[in-house]
Amino acid sequence: MRTLDIELTFKNIKNQQFVGWCHEGDGNRDFYIDVEKTLDDEEMVETVCHEMVHVWQGATRKMKDLTFGRKMYMGKIYDDTTAYEDEPWEIEAYEMQDELLEKFKEEYVL
Ligand SMILES: [Zn+2]
Repeated sequence: MRTLDIELTFKNIKNQQFVGWCHEGDGNRDFYIDVEKTLDDEEMVETVCHEMVHVWQGATRKMKDLTFGRKMYMGKIYDDTTAYEDEPWEIEAYEMQDELLEKFKEEYVL
């Protein structure tokens, strides 16, 4: 089965550090994305694009959640001593979100 089940919820996250969140359900076919609902249209689409990169990373097992908050990315294990801005899956998501946002804007008016 190649189908993904992705649940996207707009809510009041009330977290000053994060405006979006993605986590995996059971296995790599189920994903939940939360996005801060007070964002403007462009920020909202940009955040969804960013979180969808994490869905892609998880679905392809490029990234995998491990126990104790650790993650495996491209075969290497990272724990919480890696700063957010140094996490390779975040670097990739920030790189790809702009390109995805531009593609979205070519097709839809924000
Ligand atoms: Zn991220």
